[in-house]
Amino acid sequence: NSSKNEKDKGVNVQVILRCRPLSEDEMKVNTPVVVSCHDHRREVSAIQNIANKQIDRTFAFDKVFGPNSQQKDLYDQAVSPIVNEVLEGYNCTIFAYGQTGTGKTYTMEGGGKKAKNGEFPSDAGVIPRAVREIFDILEAQNAEYNMKVTFLELYNEEITDLLAPDDYSKFIDDKSKKPIALMEDGKGGVFVRGLEEEIVCTANEIYKILEKGSSKRRTAETLLNKQSSRSHSIFSITIHIKECTPEGEELIKCGKLNLVDLAGSENISRSGAREGRAREAGEINKSLLTLGRVINALVEHSGHIPYRDSKLTRLLRDSLGGKTKTCIIATISPSIHCLEETLSTLDYAHRAK
Ligand code: ADP
Ligand code: MG
Repeated sequence: NSSKNEKDKGVNVQVILRCRPLSEDEMKVNTPVVVSCHDHRREVSAIQNIANKQIDRTFAFDKVFGPNSQQKDLYDQAVSPIVNEVLEGYNCTIFAYGQTGTGKTYTMEGGGKKAKNGEFPSDAGVIPRAVREIFDILEAQNAEYNMKVTFLELYNEEITDLLAPDDYSKFIDDKSKKPIALMEDGKGGVFVRGLEEEIVCTANEIYKILEKGSSKRRTAETLLNKQSSRSHSIFSITIHIKECTPEGEELIKCGKLNLVDLAGSENISRSGAREGRAREAGEINKSLLTLGRVINALVEHSGHIPYRDSKLTRLLRDSLGGKTKTCIIATISPSIHCLEETLSTLDYAHRAK
């Protein structure tokens, strides 16, 4: 059955486009909107004025979520199917890609509203929703399982453990700041030496871990001059589920979900170099650019996949290509002031298809 073979070796990369609404401040000053989203047609158009001519460029995606879309809709339509694949034993990765300020963290973590009487706030993002669904499904199946999470940040090709017990003052002290090492395991995989792995038994534990890690990230952001727009964060959930075959044999199914909040894509083109931070810009470029090349190579079934060219792609190697699923959520702003970056995000995301 050739279609089944296609599927087995087939690369599964889905590209989703999300456009945030104008902020209150942008609305106050009547910021012109230059993006229109056609959710049902799965198309996005950006209007560009060149030499007094209006040029309308339209891009198609697997799914489009316009400014009125809700967190729940995006989760249910785009992420929930992937979570189910993870529970079937796939390694899956969800990336948020886009310019700083376009909603990557909003999409992945949420808008920051507090939970009320144990219920999710409506602005809860992909990570808490995925965690809840995973637990709900496993509990409903009465499955025997264990779950571990890790949360790390990649900045300037150096790894920081967001779950490490020591306080952040250590991290900002350059002398005692010890980057954690990425090691080869000799079987083509990699592991991060010394990375904190937390075993979790309830969804609430994961929410606390997520909160702890992202507040660490925010602290670093203030202390280190807006670092987070230049860093990638990777939240990974690994699940082992014990199963019995009809013959009574025991087997362990293992699935992994990586949730990646990428560095602002504007770093690819300008910021670093302009600020005289050539090395930093180069290093950030390296992970973002290599990710683009890896995904292109996977989509085009080309022989050589340049995983080794950056830490991000080395870290995610077991979850990119082969029997895995990848979803890229590209985020954009509707504002005229972001048009240039919006077009470059639309191009990048479109190429990944
Ligand atoms: P990024 O992580 O890409 O830099 P953020 O997630 O921090 O961007 O979003 C920037 C601001 O826009 C935040 O105040 C966030 O709450 C708001 N925002 C982003 N996306 C949306 C959305 N879809 N709906 C409402 N507010 C949003
Ligand atoms: Mg962010």
